[in-house]
Amino acid sequence: MRLANQLQLGLALELTRSQPVLDQRARGTTFIELSVKQIANSPEATKMSFWSLNPYVGCEFGCAYCYARDTHRWTAERLMVAPATSDPRQAFERQIFVKENAATVLRQTLEPAKVGNRMLLIGTATDPYQPAERRFGITRSVLEALLGFRGLTIGITTKSPLVARDVGLLLSLARSHRVSVAMSIISADPTVIRRFEPRTPLPHARLRAVRVLADAGVDVGLLIAPIIPGITDGWAALGGLMAAGKEAGARRVDGFALRLAPVARAGFLPVLEQQFSELVGRYRRQFRNRETLGSDYTNALARRIKTLQQIHGFPVSSQRRPSRSRGRLHPTPPTDQNRHEALSLSLAR
Ligand code: SF4
Repeated sequence: MRLANQLQLGLALELTRSQPVLDQRARGTTFIELSVKQIANSPEATKMSFWSLNPYVGCEFGCAYCYARDTHRWTAERLMVAPATSDPRQAFERQIFVKENAATVLRQTLEPAKVGNRMLLIGTATDPYQPAERRFGITRSVLEALLGFRGLTIGITTKSPLVARDVGLLLSLARSHRVSVAMSIISADPTVIRRFEPRTPLPHARLRAVRVLADAGVDVGLLIAPIIPGITDGWAALGGLMAAGKEAGARRVDGFALRLAPVARAGFLPVLEQQFSELVGRYRRQFRNRETLGSDYTNALARRIKTLQQIHGFPVSSQRRPSRSRGRLHPTPPTDQNRHEALSLSLAR
C-alpha cells in the first residue's frame, strides 16, 4: 500500500475511533454521533421548493428504491468515517449518523421570517421515525424545539407508525403552526412491500397509526410513493390503498411515480431482477437515459390518481396539469375491463 493511502486509511481509522459510537445493534447497525452546525436546509441550498430537515443520515428501513444513499456516503467521506461494510450502499442501512444536537441548533439558527410560508419538511432524505428514533428521540426533540416558534408550516413524511407516539406533541404544535403528516406507503399488500422494503413496518401498522392521528385531530394523509410502474400502478392496487387510507381517516392522498436517478437505479434494478425478472428488461430500456418513464406515463398516472381521488372522496391534487391522453392508457374511471390493468409498461414495450 502506498504511503499516502496508508496515511489516509490511518487518519480515517483514527477519526472513526474519535467519532462517538452511540449504540450497536445485533444485526450490526452502528449509530454514530454527528454534531451539526446547521439543521434546516434552505430551498436555495437544496434546489427544492421547501425547507427540509433530517434528524438522521442513513436509514435502517433499507428500501430498494431509496434515492438518499449518496447523502450517507458524502457524510461518511466528509467525516472520514470508515464505511460499516465494503458495500457503501449497505452502509446507508447499517451505519446511522445521529444528529444529537439537532434541537439545540434548530433553536439557535432557525429564522422563521426566512422560512416564511414555505413548508419545513421533516424527513426528505431519511425517515425521521426510523428505528433509531426509538432509542435517540432526535425527531421528538426537534418537534419540541419547534414549540418555541410560531406560524410555520411543518410537514412530516414517514413510513413508520412510531409517529403516533408523538400525537400529543403534534397537537400542541398545531396550536401555533400548520402541521401535517404524510404516511408514506407503496401498497396495501404486505408481500409487495416486502419485495422492495426489507424492514419497514407493514401496511396495517401504518394505517393503524393514521387512524390514531386522525382520531386525535392531526391533519394526516397518505403518500403513495414511489408508485412502481407495472407493479403498484394498477387501478385496483391504487384504489384499494386509497380506500384503506380513507377508512383509516386520511384527509388527503397523493402519489408519485418512481424516479430512478443513478443512485436509486443501482439499488432498485438488482432487486427488480430478483423479484420481477420479466420486467427488468423493459425497465433497463426505459430508464437507460432518464430518471422517469416520461411525460406520457406521468400524465396518465396523474389522471388515474385524480380519478381515484374523486372516487374515494379525497381533494384532487391541484398541482397536476395532465396533458391530453395519448397511447394505450385508461384515463377514465375503472370498468370491469380495465380495473386490474397496470398502466405503465404498456408504454415501454
Ligand atoms: S424509509 Fe425512506 S429514507 Fe428510509 S430507506 Fe426507505 S425510502 Fe429511504
